[in-house]
Amino acid sequence: MRLIDAEPFDAKKCAVPEGNKDYRQGYMDGVNHVLYEMEKQPVIDAAPVRRGYWKFTGYAPEERAKYQCSVCNYAVYAGKSNRFCSNCGAMMGRS
Ligand SMILES: [Zn+2]
Repeated sequence: MRLIDAEPFDAKKCAVPEGNKDYRQGYMDGVNHVLYEMEKQPVIDAAPVRRGYWKFTGYAPEERAKYQCSVCNYAVYAGKSNRFCSNCGAMMGRS
């Protein structure tokens, strides 16, 4: 399934192609049909995915590597392999 944000779509901004009156009317009928079908689609609750990365910030006592979440600065020790920040939930990529 592919999620899209349909809010920015504005049929009034669609460029009507060149052609005779019937052709242009058919085009706009098609645009309006797409809008009608989009309105009928179910709405789901979705939150944007926050993405961050682990920033190496040095060594803590006992020579444990210290990293911080690039989104919330939450510190972890030798936790760079964590795929998500346990504080803010950001999905971690490569730094
Ligand atoms: Zn975080």
